[in-house]
Amino acid sequence: THLPEAIREKVHNHPCYSEEAHHHYARMHVAVAPACNIQCHYCNRKYDCANESRPGVVSELLSPTQAAKKVLAVASQIPQMTVLGVAGPGDPLANPERTFETFEEIAAKAPDIKLCLSTNGLNLPDNVDRIAALNVDHVTITINCVDPEVGAEIYPWIFWNNRRIRGAKGAKILIRQQQKGLEMLVERGILVKVNSVMIPGVNDAHLKEVSKIVKQKGAFLHNVMPLIAEAEHGTFYGVMGQRSPTASDLQALQDDCSGDMNMMRHCRQCRADAVGLLGEDRGQEFTMDKIEHME
Ligand code: SF4
Ligand code: SF4
Repeated sequence: THLPEAIREKVHNHPCYSEEAHHHYARMHVAVAPACNIQCHYCNRKYDCANESRPGVVSELLSPTQAAKKVLAVASQIPQMTVLGVAGPGDPLANPERTFETFEEIAAKAPDIKLCLSTNGLNLPDNVDRIAALNVDHVTITINCVDPEVGAEIYPWIFWNNRRIRGAKGAKILIRQQQKGLEMLVERGILVKVNSVMIPGVNDAHLKEVSKIVKQKGAFLHNVMPLIAEAEHGTFYGVMGQRSPTASDLQALQDDCSGDMNMMRHCRQCRADAVGLLGEDRGQEFTMDKIEHME
């Protein structure tokens, strides 16, 4: 990668942000955040948040205290575990108390572990100060568009100020919050990665624009992930036949964006309770019932 030296320094042991590190360092996610505050057309709530994860089996939901216990258990078995993320199964910032309590407990018990979270961005501006206060050093925002008309094709509604706001109007608020949150994080020196889900015929032609804008605003890495449209995991807003991008479509778009931006190419779209090196998932070794027995 061509990351600037100061950022390389910060991410050298983060498996998601450094191609070299992902062979040597492990990460884990804890599934503490069940609720979500928007609806993505590609989401099937029976599974984990599709913005970070592959549709699969839903993760075992943990309380913040259980999550902290699990982190300590994993850290004792996998010493290369350097990063703990909250990535779902819903949106971490739609469950701020659960998410921040988890971070607080882990920071108190295992201060060397880096914290990260991923979010759709709707509640990001309101939480930036708390994110900074807890020393969260990496945030991933899923930004699928910067144009409300494109957004209306992706997000049927958002939940905002106790009301459901539909269509382009809702998408406009979401986009505004995402961009504002991105700027606020960058101002505070927190690293921001942007995830985008490539949806053929919906936002594929638009993502180069997204890449350009988020780079201008200071995101350090752009991760374009393929929509995973599998019949058994639901269709894209009921449109039968919404296809996933092919591997070569995806690569062509990543190449196209790479003129402007550092692209992440080794994302494995991990589950909200993934454990281990990228590409391996040892989550089943660390379910809560097994952790209780480790003591
Ligand atoms: Fe589903 Fe994630 Fe979108 Fe929320 S942000 S609707 S959990 S894909
Ligand atoms: Fe890293 Fe991608 Fe997995 Fe998130 S989903 S932990 S960015 S490899």
